[in-house]
Amino acid sequence: MKKAFMLLMAMVMMVMMVAGCGGGEKKPADKAAEVPKVLRVGTEPTFAPFEFQKEGSKDFDGFDMDLIRAIGKQLNMKVEIQNMGFDALIPAINAGNIDAAIAGMSITPDRQKAVDMSDPYYASGLVVVVNKDNEAVKSVKDLDNKGIAAQIGTTGAERAAKVPGAKVKNFNTNSEVFLELKNKGVDAVIIDKPVAEYYLAQGGGKETAKIVGETMEAESYGISLKKNSPLTAKINKALLDLKKNGEYDKLYEKWFGAVKK
Ligand code: GLN
Repeated sequence: MKKAFMLLMAMVMMVMMVAGCGGGEKKPADKAAEVPKVLRVGTEPTFAPFEFQKEGSKDFDGFDMDLIRAIGKQLNMKVEIQNMGFDALIPAINAGNIDAAIAGMSITPDRQKAVDMSDPYYASGLVVVVNKDNEAVKSVKDLDNKGIAAQIGTTGAERAAKVPGAKVKNFNTNSEVFLELKNKGVDAVIIDKPVAEYYLAQGGGKETAKIVGETMEAESYGISLKKNSPLTAKINKALLDLKKNGEYDKLYEKWFGAVKK
């Protein structure tokens, strides 16, 4: 008898719990209809120190990765990062396969026509990288009719294409770009300055490569989103909040040292 009563009580409690849960969940679920809980982010992780995967790891590391996760926290969204080709990022946004791309992507008028771009979050520029033993190339002006490697779809590739007579080789990843230079398949690489500096300081280029000439185009990085996405304003607000609360400076210091003010 006692057993039967206990069993009945247990069943009653279970029904109450299930009912309780269902009722409690309704409100957040309605909210979720307005703001998605998951932020699907695309990146191309051969762009250290902005996005990269440590050898043997599938984890996404780097300044951009920390920044987008901090933005996700700010927006109460779970950030899910996917690896794709750099030139596939904007098409993936427009196909609705990802909500945003963060990939050291420079804000350009062409991209702004295709997608929304957030407020700038990092000031960058392009440089020429050559092999250390190359005495002939001292700046971009010496690259006429020479071989240049760049990553496909980047502003570096666009800049290379403007060099008179240059034979431009486009690669899917920056690892291949730098390898082509090392193997002397090209005379030079055109790539973003902070990425070139990182490659020379702690990437594979320390012994073999050098930067020559001035920084070319001034460029700023932005996060891309679908045109007219309600998320654009939210991401801009989150960026501003992270700048105000010191979190952005902390990340900047972690990856680049002292904060530029
Ligand atoms: N900043 C450059 C661009 O936007 C390169 C980006 C990259 O290679 N990830 O084209």
